Amino acid sequence: MYPVPFEYHRAGSVQEAVDLLARFGEGARLLAGGHSLLPLMKLRLAEPRHLVDIRRIPGLSGVRVEGGRLVVGAATPYQVLERSPLVRERLPVLAEAAAQIGDPQVRNLGTIGGSLAHADPAADMPAVMLALGAELLATGPKGTRTLPVDGFFLKLFTTALSSGEVLTEVRIPLPPAGSGGAYAKFAHPASRYAIVGVAAVVTVSGGTISAARVAITGVGSKAARAAATEAALVGKAADATTVSAAAQKAVDGLSVRSDARMDPDYWRSLAVTFTRRALATAVERAR
Ligand SMILES: Cc1cc2nc3c(=O)[nH]c(=O)nc-3n(C[C@H](O)[C@H](O)[C@H](O)COP(=O)(O)OP(=O)(O)OC[C@H]3O[C@@H](n4cnc5c(N)ncnc54)[C@H](O)[C@@H]3O)c2cc1C
Repeated sequence: MYPVPFEYHRAGSVQEAVDLLARFGEGARLLAGGHSLLPLMKLRLAEPRHLVDIRRIPGLSGVRVEGGRLVVGAATPYQVLERSPLVRERLPVLAEAAAQIGDPQVRNLGTIGGSLAHADPAADMPAVMLALGAELLATGPKGTRTLPVDGFFLKLFTTALSSGEVLTEVRIPLPPAGSGGAYAKFAHPASRYAIVGVAAVVTVSGGTISAARVAITGVGSKAARAAATEAALVGKAADATTVSAAAQKAVDGLSVRSDARMDPDYWRSLAVTFTRRALATAVERAR
C-alpha cells in the first residue's frame, strides 16, 4: 500500500525540527531511520502530512565519553553502536545488543533515538537502556529537559516524551570497575525482533554482587526492569546458584502477554532461561 501524500522537510538543527513540529502540530512526525515509521505509513496506520527528517542535523549522531558517561546522539544508527571502538571498549553490552538488531539494512538506518521514542514492546534498546540506567535528553517548545529512563516507557508505543519534543541525546553512566553486562535474546526468526530479550548489568566486589540492573523486553506491553530478580541478586554470592534462583523470578510482578502462537507459560519460561543466560555472562564478565 502507498502512504498518504506528505511533505518532506529536512531540519538543519534541533531548533528547526522543534519549530517545524510546532508549526504543523499533530500532522507532523519526526523521521529518523524510518524503519518503524515508514512501514506504519505504508499500512496507513500512521498518516502524517509532514515528515521532519532529523538524520542530518549536525551533532545529533555520534558517541563520546563525557563526565563518566557515554553520550550517544539520538540519531546514531545501530551499526555505529555495534562497531564503534569506543562503545566496544567502554560499554560492550551496548555493542553486543546493537549487533543483534534486525539485519544489516535495519542496523544501517535504524537509530537509538527512534527505537526509544517508538517504544515497541519487542525492541531491544529500551531494555538495554533500562539495565544501564540511562538518562534521555529532550528538546521541545518549552526548552530542554532530562528524563530518567525509569518511567520513560509508559505503555505500548507510548513514552514520557511530550508531543513536539525531539529526543536529542542518551546519556549512559559508565559502570564502575568490577561490573559486567550482557544481552541475551531469543529473536523472532523472520524479523529478529525480540520474543524475549534480557539485558543485565551487575557489579561484583569481593565475590558478592553489590549492584544489579536487569531489564526484559518482548514479554509484556513495554520493556521493564525485573525488580524481583534484581532484589534476589544484591548482597548474594556471585555464583551459579544465585543466578539460577534470581532468574526464576524474572517475570514476578510483570504482566506477560500471550498471542495465538504462544501461551504465557512458554513466554515465562523463555524469560527465565534468557535471564539466566544474560546474568551468568554478566557475572562472569564482572569477575
Ligand atoms: C525488518 C525489520 C526488523 C527489525 N528488527 C528489529 C529488532 O530486531 N530489534 C529492534 O529493536 N528493532 C527492530 N526493528 C525496528 C528498528 O529498530 C527501528 O529502526 C526502530 O524501531 C525505530 O528507529 P528509527 O530510527 O527507524 O525511527 P523512525 O521509524 O524514523 O521513527 C520511529 C518513531 O519515533 C519517532 N522519532 C524518531 N526519532 C525521534 C527522536 N529523536 N525524538 C523523538 N521522536 C523520534 C518518529 O517520529 C516515529 O514516531 C526492525 C525493523 C524492521 C523494518
